[in-house]
Amino acid sequence: MEHSKLRAFMMKCNKCSRGWSVDQSDFEKPIITCQNPECNNQFTVYEGLKNGLKFFEDFIPIPFLANDMFNETIDVKIGYETYFNLPESIKKIYKIMIMPMGAFLVGAVDITKKGFRIFTSLPDGGDKSLIGENTKVFIMINAKTDDYNIPWMDMLQFALEQLINEDFLTSILFSEIAFEIYIDMALSEGYRKYGLDEDSISRFLVATELPTKVNPLMWNLYQIKLSKSTSWNNWEKKALKWRNEIAHGSKVGATEDEAKLVYETVVDSIFYFMEGIDKKMKQTNV
Ligand SMILES: [Zn+2]
Repeated sequence: MEHSKLRAFMMKCNKCSRGWSVDQSDFEKPIITCQNPECNNQFTVYEGLKNGLKFFEDFIPIPFLANDMFNETIDVKIGYETYFNLPESIKKIYKIMIMPMGAFLVGAVDITKKGFRIFTSLPDGGDKSLIGENTKVFIMINAKTDDYNIPWMDMLQFALEQLINEDFLTSILFSEIAFEIYIDMALSEGYRKYGLDEDSISRFLVATELPTKVNPLMWNLYQIKLSKSTSWNNWEKKALKWRNEIAHGSKVGATEDEAKLVYETVVDSIFYFMEGIDKKMKQTNV
């Protein structure tokens, strides 16, 4: 099966909207110049990644965390079902696009990482003589083929999926959970460096409220706090508030704007910390 390897994260220029996958060396560069020769826009790797995560309204968004793109033409028979086996290297499917090469309808069901069933049928008033005819469909699959597991990114991916599927309440919860996982991970890493044992770290994190984690605790470890960032108000007054209301049953519905705001606030907040921690690590050379 034909495929092309990508990196799981995408950078996007917010001026010309060109996107490309991020390279390890980009993290060493203080400033990135847009790959579009006519654009010349400059931004940091973190801004590029943030833009990549926020451009989810593109015509064909590239799902982040997918590091491989497969494409293939498959033989099908109109009106019949075809099972398509996926390569064993696939660990997770993020998106399947399937296009009929002719005047018929096509869809995929029972999708697992092993494969899926392809259905074909005729549109209303379609030419019935086509039933049983051999033809082709073209498929494109975004998948994960390398073994990487970054729980907060998986949660963010779920949040984005729910946002696109218009399940806004669930999207808000997943976005906030992604943020909480990221914060706990960053704090645990910091405490581990000071020699604190796993049991103490986990007890400490369970007993501590989130606003304390993102301000004084992050400040103690990395000299960075969320209350100094531009996303603070949206996070404290909206994202965190709504998350608590949903968890306690008092908020039972959400709008697209609310879910988008929480998703974007979480992306901004996580990258605010990532950039700050990265700076601190470079300074202290740890
Ligand atoms: Zn550009």
